Amino acid sequence: MTRVVTVVDGIAAPSALKARLGKLGLKCKNDLVLHLPLRYEDETQVITIATAGSLEENSGPVQLEVQVQEVSVQFRPRRQLVARVADESGELTLRFLNFYGSQIRQFERARDERQKLRVFGEIRQGFLGAEMVHPRYRLIREGESLPEALTPIYPTTTGLSQSILRKHIAAALAEADLEELLEEAWCRERGFPPFDGALRLLHAPPPDVPESALQSRRHPAWRRIKFDELLAQQLSLRRSYLSRRQRGAPRITPPGVLSRQLRESLPFSLTAAQRRVTAEITGDLAQPYPMQRLLQGDVGSGKTIVAALAACQAIEAGFQAAFMAPTEILAEQHYLKLRAWLEPLGVKVIWLSGSQKKADKLASRRQAANTAQLVVGTHALIQEQVDFARLGLAIVDEQHRFGVAQRLELRRKGEKSEKGEKGTQPPHQLMMSATPIPRTLAMSYYADLDVSVLDELPPGRLPVRTRLVSDARRDEVIERIRGAVGVGRQSYWVCPLIEESEKLQLQTALETHALLSQELTGLRVGLVHGRQKAAEKAATMAAFVAGEIDVLVATTVIEVGVDVPNASLMVIEHAERFGLSQLHQLRGRVGRGQESSVCVLLYQSPLSMTARERLKIIFENTDGFEIARQDLRLRGPGEFVGSRQSGVPLLRYADLEADADLVEPAREMAERLLREAPERAEHHLTRWLGSREELLKA
Ligand code: ADP
Ligand code: MG
Repeated sequence: MTRVVTVVDGIAAPSALKARLGKLGLKCKNDLVLHLPLRYEDETQVITIATAGSLEENSGPVQLEVQVQEVSVQFRPRRQLVARVADESGELTLRFLNFYGSQIRQFERARDERQKLRVFGEIRQGFLGAEMVHPRYRLIREGESLPEALTPIYPTTTGLSQSILRKHIAAALAEADLEELLEEAWCRERGFPPFDGALRLLHAPPPDVPESALQSRRHPAWRRIKFDELLAQQLSLRRSYLSRRQRGAPRITPPGVLSRQLRESLPFSLTAAQRRVTAEITGDLAQPYPMQRLLQGDVGSGKTIVAALAACQAIEAGFQAAFMAPTEILAEQHYLKLRAWLEPLGVKVIWLSGSQKKADKLASRRQAANTAQLVVGTHALIQEQVDFARLGLAIVDEQHRFGVAQRLELRRKGEKSEKGEKGTQPPHQLMMSATPIPRTLAMSYYADLDVSVLDELPPGRLPVRTRLVSDARRDEVIERIRGAVGVGRQSYWVCPLIEESEKLQLQTALETHALLSQELTGLRVGLVHGRQKAAEKAATMAAFVAGEIDVLVATTVIEVGVDVPNASLMVIEHAERFGLSQLHQLRGRVGRGQESSVCVLLYQSPLSMTARERLKIIFENTDGFEIARQDLRLRGPGEFVGSRQSGVPLLRYADLEADADLVEPAREMAERLLREAPERAEHHLTRWLGSREELLKA
């Protein structure tokens, strides 16, 4: 929804100007004072033409005070206004390629009345000696003093000049509320200047402030402002976390018989990490407010069983659980696995997906609204027509694959299902992700969630060995597959990723399948890709799980979650085209059984620098957290977490990497303010996000 803002609080300005300010997000005085310069120009000094001429080339703009000697309009090589100017040390040409008639008269008058001109620009050596092209200039009065501060250059928009913007910001600075909201002593300890001092310095730095500290934004004034911004972000995220806690959720406190039965039926025992996280979740479910927990665990760390144990708690307490996965293949795998685990214990597990036949879908929906205890499926789970009878727990696997809107929808489902009974109650939520993100990022992206980490892989796993193999040695790889199949193992062959064209991608998959079927005579080669009908995909996957397919040619549809322990060889063709997290996820499809596994990354030379670096990282690392860290280093945080919306897009000044050391103190301060001085927390939030906070409510 777009809304045209024509009213600007407290800014006295005509509506066209208000609209332009609004375009920059400047809707009140607070916004104006927090609109900080991109850079500065030094107009505090004047030098002579001779000095300027002796400076090295590209030494930046200079300011001169000159008198106009001569004004003319020349026509060669094109129409231009040329003014000859001079000071006591020498002469200079000013050249304007775009100009108004009024400018000619202005220069002529200055010449006739011997009025001085201050010009600001870069000097270059032209054909006829020193010149300035399009300098900024201003007529000055006799004896007019120089500015005492650097001139700020603000981010702006068409139709809004620097001087207008400067005027409004200066006015706002004089009137806006710049009250200090942090304790002085605390600030002093950290070397933070007071809020008002920091702002005044950044808007009008004295010329002796080192330019490099301003430019790199490491100056204490910048650090203070960035801290305040991060504090606002943390406050906002924490507050929304706390407000969700105000809403009631069903307390889930069964004796735990069902989950014990499930644990006892497993062929393995839980890792210490799985036990710890299970206990955290059990604790959350017993609370009268909704759990908002993110379970992070590297590929293969065993998140599914943790989720299943949580579902057992909800089911035993008489509630339903929903388990949602981002792809059909993954959802179906979960369905089969959860059914195998839970049906023997008498749990009614049903399947719901967009690709079901109409009649089946209707039947599933009816069951969801009725007797089903665990509903597994794709995002069809959150569609309008599905009404759960009594949803107590919503589990979202690979949560980063879902959009914010979809997750909100799932939360709302529970509210609907409880209507009329106990009012509106959101379900407990468990989100899972195999994309670990570094701590400072997590604090920003997930500050509104509780986070559990599975930091241990099940025992007995042999690390996957990674091989980088040039495409020229494809034949050897083919032989390797034969070898693996010869000893009863299975392989994946991942087709090249073609990002630009889905059609081409499909075609490549078909061709790869045909070619490999030929090359691997005698072996059973299957194919699975995104464009197949769900039933066809499911049948192929079932055959692969059952060992009826030796080599599964696949597109990235198998990237997430697929679990076939007997597969011990993975070949990724054109590995150089994949991203780091994709390669890590794909490689995670093998190494799930007791056999040692190999991942072959086939690449085509020549490699670009970044492709080389990516392959090196994936070759050298197996730990998903480390890979994520490196990925962050390569790509920067913007791209990293994908579409998750949070306060992060609102950070204008702080940089989660460069200012990582400010994130933790900001979080601590946010918690302290909310606890000890909620009115100051509120004040700080209004200051920073007053007119923006709507954006955060995603
Ligand atoms: P992910 O965290 O990637 O979703 P999964 O839940 O798919 O991992 O688990 C990977 C494999 O490890 C599965 O085959 C699962 O049954 C198995 N597994 C899970 N926990 C354990 C454990 N404690 N000991 C042995 N195997 C386990
Ligand atoms: Mg998984």
